[in-house]
Amino acid sequence: MIIEDVVCPFCACLCDDIVVSVNGDGMITEVRNACVLGVRKFMCANRFKKGSAEHRAEKPRLRGEEVEYEDAVREAVEILRCADHPLVYGLSNTGYNAQRIALEIARMKSGIIENSESVCHNLFYQAILRRCGVSGGRLYFATLEQIRDKAHLIIYWGSNPVSGHPRHLSKFSLYPVGLYAMKGVQDRELIVIDAVETPLKKIASIFLRVPCGEDWRVAEIMRKIVSGDFKGLKTLAKGLDFATISTIAERMKSASSGVIFIGLGVLSSAPRNCDDAGCDDALKCVDALLSLVETLNEDGVRFFIFPMKGHFNVVGAVTLLMRETGRPFSVDFHNSDADFIPGAALRSLERGDVDAALIIGADPLSSLPRRFASALLKIPTVVIDAFESITSKFATVFIPSAITGVEAEDIAYRMDGLPLKLKKIVECPLPLRSDAEILRDIRDNLRRLH
Ligand code: SF4
Repeated sequence: MIIEDVVCPFCACLCDDIVVSVNGDGMITEVRNACVLGVRKFMCANRFKKGSAEHRAEKPRLRGEEVEYEDAVREAVEILRCADHPLVYGLSNTGYNAQRIALEIARMKSGIIENSESVCHNLFYQAILRRCGVSGGRLYFATLEQIRDKAHLIIYWGSNPVSGHPRHLSKFSLYPVGLYAMKGVQDRELIVIDAVETPLKKIASIFLRVPCGEDWRVAEIMRKIVSGDFKGLKTLAKGLDFATISTIAERMKSASSGVIFIGLGVLSSAPRNCDDAGCDDALKCVDALLSLVETLNEDGVRFFIFPMKGHFNVVGAVTLLMRETGRPFSVDFHNSDADFIPGAALRSLERGDVDAALIIGADPLSSLPRRFASALLKIPTVVIDAFESITSKFATVFIPSAITGVEAEDIAYRMDGLPLKLKKIVECPLPLRSDAEILRDIRDNLRRLH
């Protein structure tokens, strides 16, 4: 059987032109159009064999011992029932329907809900909130199709799509034919700005290396050149490659339309938690980039700024929380009138204000700074994930799930906010439920006891 128009559930590009072949035994035999990361994710559906490099868990575990599904759910419900202030964490690698149920659980338990944006793009949201609050500033954003049709100058700033979003260049930015770029790559120019050399350097017309934490100075110099304000430029440019910076600024000024794709390379040029020293510099950097794009637009050049989202449904998690609570992450239902403070949920965890955690599709023990990960090890955790991770290994209760978008259907939001349906391609070879079904079972049992 050949299934067409499948959406790849690996990264936030959510490529929707994947073709999957499935044999009579229900095994995926071929995946066409996907990049290597996408192919690997689809092929994980075949890998249950113990001992293989990427084998998946077959049964739930309670304190490391395999148990039946009903026992695992019972224990998970008990952990959450006894908790006064649980943390619901992760959600970026799970479908929208599962996210909605996780939010219901957080609400029901007056807990905190947090997604991975709080350690990824949180400074971007802060800078936007600050600008909108102070100056009623605009966000120059567009869908990927609009960018593909209009942008001639493509700038990747602190972002390397080759490793994180391999088809981004061919589907949405540099190579595809667009309405105003009929010759594809020949009608476009690629500029790369980064702290380190990446494979993109080889295909870029200009590569600018920026010392760590100095992106804001580069953006500010460009803004000044674009607006014709040359006062204090020499001092500001001290130690930087001024010639290349001004060449890029001139290219921006003369472009008919362009886009800056910003990545974590910019946001992580300083510690990402607002109480850490250096965060002001990173915020200053995002602010300077937003000002640069604003100045270009005021000058008549249509320019967009676009954050490169990573996990396949991180935008779904943010969209849901914005819709339901008006905040993109870090929502504490125990104190819902509190001011929005990005990262507040993780600091509650660090302070010991959280007494249990429900973790869905995330590996915080690997990805969070050590102090948060250590705090997590001190409380009971319920982990729901299709894949094994450090976090699943240390979980009090681990419930393996079917792979969303391969063995279970759901909805995901592409990096520009477009919702797409994730198909069920094959039956899960083991009786594993989808994360939405597992969360539903936990929620319904909790409701009964509430
Ligand atoms: S770019 Fe992302 S969504 Fe597209 S095929 Fe690769 S991993 Fe999948």
